[in-house]
Amino acid sequence: MSRRSILRYSAAAAGIAIGGAGLVTPASASDFYNPFTGYPITDGWWEHISRGSLGGIDFAMGVGTPLPACGGGTITNIPYNGTGGHTVTINHPNGYRTQYMHLSQFLLGNGTSVGAGAHVGLSGGAAGAPGSGSSTGPHCHWHMINPSGTRINPLDYIGGGGGGGGTLPKTSTESDGIPGPIFWKRVQNWVRIDAGYTGPIDGVPGPNTYAAMQRYLAAHYGYGGPADGAPGPNTYAALQRLAARHGYTGPIDGVMGPNSWRGVARFVNQDRFDRV
Ligand SMILES: [Zn+2]
Repeated sequence: MSRRSILRYSAAAAGIAIGGAGLVTPASASDFYNPFTGYPITDGWWEHISRGSLGGIDFAMGVGTPLPACGGGTITNIPYNGTGGHTVTINHPNGYRTQYMHLSQFLLGNGTSVGAGAHVGLSGGAAGAPGSGSSTGPHCHWHMINPSGTRINPLDYIGGGGGGGGTLPKTSTESDGIPGPIFWKRVQNWVRIDAGYTGPIDGVPGPNTYAAMQRYLAAHYGYGGPADGAPGPNTYAALQRLAARHGYTGPIDGVMGPNSWRGVARFVNQDRFDRV
């Protein structure tokens, strides 16, 4: 083992990575994955925030479903953790923690070391069951806590893909006002991260893309119509209200023009939608 690899090994053992320029950086997000891609999101990150929660994502699944670790770490079990009910914490070596809530059963003792994918508990959440906390139906609540103690969206952190990953370029719609494939890929990635969209990031919006947009617009921008995947003037008026939060100053008339699209583009061009 070379001196350099000994240094690297020591750094890895201490839970940090040393970049090529000698910078100390957190372990990469690629060390984590989304273990719940197969389950529908019934309550997304912003839905939690907008009702006063510190944040989380709820995945629907039957009671007793094994919960895989999203990354390696050590286990801390917190029985009857208030509204969260039985809660398992994975303490990751880079200082981040993830928590799974409303468990029906713990599987591992405190201090157990696990790798990504290890089953750390069984899901619960049935109303009134021991360990469910305030949950009213079977699901797993998942969130991440950064090293300074702030809850963050684990899908933002890991890029949500759970395999492969990648980066989207910024869309030029911000300057030309014409939505194209890159714009729509970023829209699809936005609704994947914030609104439970599980379809492809292919730049070709279909009913599932529009339905996810409508769910988000209903939760945050006053859209009152159905999430039917068929956008009309009410959907576009809500989208213009979103655009207005990002520099659009035109009318809220449900008719998208270049300036409306530019506002939406400024929203989807945020760095947090770069990673797929
Ligand atoms: Zn929740």
